[in-house]
Amino acid sequence: MRIKAAVCREFNRPLVVEEVELAAPGAGELRIRVAACAICHSDIHYADGAWGGSLPSVFGHEASGVVEEIGAGVEGFEVGDHVVVTLIRSCGHCYYCADGDEVLCEGEFSLDRDGPISAADGGHITQGLRTGAFAEQVVVDPSQVVVIPKEIAFDCASLLACGVITGLGAVVNTARVEAGSNVVVIGTGGVGLNSIQGAALSDCGKIIAVDISDEKLAAAKRFGATHGVNSAREEIADVVRALTEGRGADYVFVTVGVKSVIEQAFGLIRKGGTLVLVGMTASGEVAGFEPLTVANDCQVVLGSKMGSSRIRTDIPKLVSYYQQGRLKLDELISGRYPLAEINEAIASVNRGEALRNVIVF
Ligand SMILES: [Zn+2]
Ligand SMILES: [Zn+2]
Repeated sequence: MRIKAAVCREFNRPLVVEEVELAAPGAGELRIRVAACAICHSDIHYADGAWGGSLPSVFGHEASGVVEEIGAGVEGFEVGDHVVVTLIRSCGHCYYCADGDEVLCEGEFSLDRDGPISAADGGHITQGLRTGAFAEQVVVDPSQVVVIPKEIAFDCASLLACGVITGLGAVVNTARVEAGSNVVVIGTGGVGLNSIQGAALSDCGKIIAVDISDEKLAAAKRFGATHGVNSAREEIADVVRALTEGRGADYVFVTVGVKSVIEQAFGLIRKGGTLVLVGMTASGEVAGFEPLTVANDCQVVLGSKMGSSRIRTDIPKLVSYYQQGRLKLDELISGRYPLAEINEAIASVNRGEALRNVIVF
């Protein structure tokens, strides 16, 4: 079928909204009409060429929508179901899936080989981030999709697909912080605010937000931060030590993919403390740290991909938190844009103005 999609034809150039061809779902696949797709920094990194990959490509992976067509053999979905669509494609039976680490799945999928998108002239278009949701419709694997209650608005629901589970999951799944922990969250954008929400939901003690934007630090307080540090004006290490009886933080979450910030973050954790790397740097970047300190101070470094999420159980839990008023979603949305204005929506993210900008259909 013919659909409109925003295609990346050249790195670092505006996306081109054009008609593309979407294949019907094969056996074991679903077609979903996209209702909302938020813009994540990962989409922008890919479109800028920071992580390579083949072009042309349709990005967009933080989506919600409605099930329109169900491929042979798919169970657990009905046409008309409202769903969240994520990039986490998992086979359910490889070593990592069997161990509960769906985000590390090594399964192989026909969608990875062929992909459902092609150009109007028949040329191949890559399904970026295994979703390709800067488009009116997607064809994805059912493992990527979670049914949600129909009363949840699509724009809010889309955020559950990446920013929320990545930020909040880093705190509750990857690090499993204990109540009372003193936590630093560096970067208070669409991911970092959710790490702050996760820390608040986990009854952490001091929740120290770090950013260079006073507006974002003000937002961080609304999401549960107890303290804000503007690192453009203040020395983070001094503030963190002053707030933690000189020890340093129990946990530091780095939600920005910036090497110098990661290096600085080692200096914020206490002896035996944990540094959690959430934001992804460009391919090939190398950060330095002093192994002696890590060993001598029994420090822990954790990597966290997609908040180590198990979407089938985590997303319904987050939906119920939202319905109980314990999780903020509406407040994460800075702007709503039609697909035709996607380049403006991305530019606004790049100017640092947005928590989350959402493409609505
Ligand atoms: Zn994302
Ligand atoms: Zn697997």
